[in-house]
Amino acid sequence: MSEENTQQFEKIMSLMKRKGFIFQSSDIYGGLSAIYDYGPLGVLLKNNIQNEWWKAMVQKRDDIVGLDAAILMHPMVWKASGHVDSFSDPLVDCKKCNLRHRVDHILTNKGIDADDKMQLEELESLIKENNIVCPECGGELTKPRSFNLMLKTYLGPVESDENIVYLRPETAQGIYVNFKNVLNTYRVKIPFGIAQVGKAFRNEITTKQFIFRTREFTQMEMQYFVHPSQADDVYEEWKERRLRWFLDLGIREDRLRFKQHAKLAHYAKDAYDIEYEFPFGWKEVEGLHNRGDFDLSQHIKYSNKDLQYLDPETGEKYIPYIIETSIGLDRTILTFICNAYEEVEGGRTQTTESSKEVEYVLHLHPRIAPVKAAVLPLVKKEEKLLGIARDIASNLREDYITMYDDSGSIGRRYRRQDEIGTPFCITVDFDSLKDNTVTIRDRDTMKQDRIKITEIKDYLKDKIS
Ligand code: ATP
Repeated sequence: MSEENTQQFEKIMSLMKRKGFIFQSSDIYGGLSAIYDYGPLGVLLKNNIQNEWWKAMVQKRDDIVGLDAAILMHPMVWKASGHVDSFSDPLVDCKKCNLRHRVDHILTNKGIDADDKMQLEELESLIKENNIVCPECGGELTKPRSFNLMLKTYLGPVESDENIVYLRPETAQGIYVNFKNVLNTYRVKIPFGIAQVGKAFRNEITTKQFIFRTREFTQMEMQYFVHPSQADDVYEEWKERRLRWFLDLGIREDRLRFKQHAKLAHYAKDAYDIEYEFPFGWKEVEGLHNRGDFDLSQHIKYSNKDLQYLDPETGEKYIPYIIETSIGLDRTILTFICNAYEEVEGGRTQTTESSKEVEYVLHLHPRIAPVKAAVLPLVKKEEKLLGIARDIASNLREDYITMYDDSGSIGRRYRRQDEIGTPFCITVDFDSLKDNTVTIRDRDTMKQDRIKITEIKDYLKDKIS
């Protein structure tokens, strides 16, 4: 990462903490590594992004239904899925400073083509051929070995091997094991999808990039069940649709790209990532996989249950293929924040009292912005203005998260809202007393429209939707 990008990323992280979006977990005890909490604004942003996903994936479709499976599942699920045996990352230890690293990350950071699906021997050769040493202290590295990423705990009063359960490392398995339940109880026919949002846990080793890679995170996954002959076409459609979702919510096109996996995971027939160009480089935000019939076949084998689909029209019985779209909510939040972040040296208007200061603006899409509108009485002394402003704010709260702010100069108040991405600031001034109008300032253009108080809601509705 260049010096400039490192600095920019540090400023983004600091803005997130300063403004109450994201805090380190258990902060007062020194924090828990790679675990984060969402503050008052963070939780609003998180819920908005999740709602947008749910709306696009479930609400607007008649072929996808929702599910909320438990985090803890029968341990056989993870045997069948392959996670117990092969959900691992290749690691090396530094013999000098004892720090542990992901081999594939060390290699790719050096510009060497490598990934976590490579054989340990292959990775070892790459380390030798390229004289790779510890990136922290230059010490010699151990041979690579596999490290399982699942977090374990015990269910019940006895801490024995029979009572081991795993905190799920992905939400997808909850969908596969409920495939028949949904099919038998809900009027769905193939092709159809099941979507769910929920927590997942991975004991990640490389965790330096804030909420990009955490040990507890939220996934939004959709598994689409299709006839094998349709799988390739449906996969292409989902790739197109998922990319559109980001673009429609304002992610810059030049910072998004598809990347096909060179090496496939054990379950995949084809795999693409949607990558975003973060300040620390191009990284995966969402994974799209054609999983073939791997998952249902495995669960048929391990559970001895018939999970085949019987086509009511043709009478054909088959194991459906699964097209998966899997996106991390936390990583998506970081994507939206990085995409929205602007830093204006010397201030945006150059005429305010702050013209020497740096100003920060989050150009979040109005639909995902945490606060939709702020109501600002021009002066604090005039009780009548405050009354009107408070009334407007309380009326707007029926429909939108709204802030009321009467402290400090109007310029400072605009900047406060710009920093947290509020798209509209409504100012109540002396004209408001005469003609029941207000001004509405657009965060991005800083243009102001004068409209009637009674028209505010329609105005916002129009702009936000
Ligand atoms: P990576 O290669 O970055 O570890 P992955 O390929 O293991 O990711 P998947 O298993 O495909 O990721 O998970 C799907 C999505 O879940 C990812 O695209 C990402 O958005 C999210 N995700 C995975 N692991 C994490 C994590 N540790 N923290 C936050 N989000 C994650």
